[in-house]
Amino acid sequence: MTEQPGPRDTGSTGTTGSTGTTGTTIVLGHVVTPASQTSSQTPGPTHLDIPDGAVAYAGGTIQAVGAADDVRASYPDAAIVDEGDRLIVPGFVDAHVHFPQVDMIASPGLELLDWLENYTFPTEARFADAAHADATADFFTDQLIANGVTTACVYSTVHPESVEALFRRALENNLRIISGKVCMDRNAPEALLDTPDSAVADSVDLLERWHQVGRLEYAITPRFAPTSSDAQLAALGEMATAYPDVLIQTHLAENTGEIAWVGDLFPDAVDYTDVYDRAGLVRRRSVFGHAVHLSERELTRLAAAEASIAHCPTSNFFLGSGMFSLARAQELSGLRIGLGSDVGAGTSLSPLVTLNEAYKVSRMLGTPMDVPALLRLATLGGAEALGVDATVGSLEPGKDADLVVLDAHADANSAVLKRRADNAVNTGELLFALMILGDERAVTRTVVAGDG
Ligand SMILES: [Zn+2]
Repeated sequence: MTEQPGPRDTGSTGTTGSTGTTGTTIVLGHVVTPASQTSSQTPGPTHLDIPDGAVAYAGGTIQAVGAADDVRASYPDAAIVDEGDRLIVPGFVDAHVHFPQVDMIASPGLELLDWLENYTFPTEARFADAAHADATADFFTDQLIANGVTTACVYSTVHPESVEALFRRALENNLRIISGKVCMDRNAPEALLDTPDSAVADSVDLLERWHQVGRLEYAITPRFAPTSSDAQLAALGEMATAYPDVLIQTHLAENTGEIAWVGDLFPDAVDYTDVYDRAGLVRRRSVFGHAVHLSERELTRLAAAEASIAHCPTSNFFLGSGMFSLARAQELSGLRIGLGSDVGAGTSLSPLVTLNEAYKVSRMLGTPMDVPALLRLATLGGAEALGVDATVGSLEPGKDADLVVLDAHADANSAVLKRRADNAVNTGELLFALMILGDERAVTRTVVAGDG
């Protein structure tokens, strides 16, 4: 019998985040990374830019980041990978994405609620077929790596098989994947409905078998308030209480029609945020997708609960949902905010493409983001939003060796990007050109937990 990676009850011990490599590897290149603030007494830099830099790692963990000469002197026996003047950045974090929706990306012409009905639900119904779920999970995880995404918070479908397929494949690739079975007990086709009891039973079963196996985590995942009854939200809130450290993901205040519908469905709630709050679903590691149209009360409440927002600009433009003001949210509340592709409403799995749209939203709202803030949003910001910043999100000793090599001159890139890169006068201009003109073709290498 071939030994396959699998969940706890198959006898596998899972992986440890290590590739089994005992020796040290040093990648040489132009290191650019956000940096954690380790001490409020003596805050260090929040952004590192090391042109002749190096990252050393062993056993899936970063050992050193710094000037190439210094790092090489510390590890004289290390294997060397020389990336020349290419950029080395942290593995990207996608804080909100639907893996089943890769088959319906770029479906035209509808706003959120009609788009769900016409495209999303028929696409997700196909995941009752485990073979289809397996094939899609294979494609999706391959695409994450191709796009430089090493950590993702992912919606599956209502079917437990969809989560199994994703986790199985992510464990093989050693990706840091947080996912859960979507819970819906109303306002969707019969074939996609569960019940309050079955939603909790299936979620607990998946959690018990897959949570913290390798780099995987389970997430309690009600799709959004309109497709869950009060009883289901309350049942998931009880489950959340039983698992106080587990991530919760759902959608919030994406579109004005949706918000009006929530008002009709939950007449006793103060507002949309309160629908989740009353059920016990607003807390640290609650990650709310979109949050485009929130009142000051709601933002303040989310911040007080230490909840997070996944900002999904390509999706918000594509569905015409609105523009999320990251500056307002941070100013009012200091909320943790990550970047979400929200494929399939989002139009690309590439964090570079998604950052292009994040920049444009910020520019439209009169609060343009700078390059360090953009890079942070797609890396450490996302890790903080998901509560995994102790292990990923930046290139720092002790964190997982997740890193991405970006090459503005990769053969497949557009001639325009190459020419603009030639004319970049500093790191910020080069990185910005990659964000505005680049996509997965600029990702020439993705190292996942020291492997790649
Ligand atoms: Zn979504």
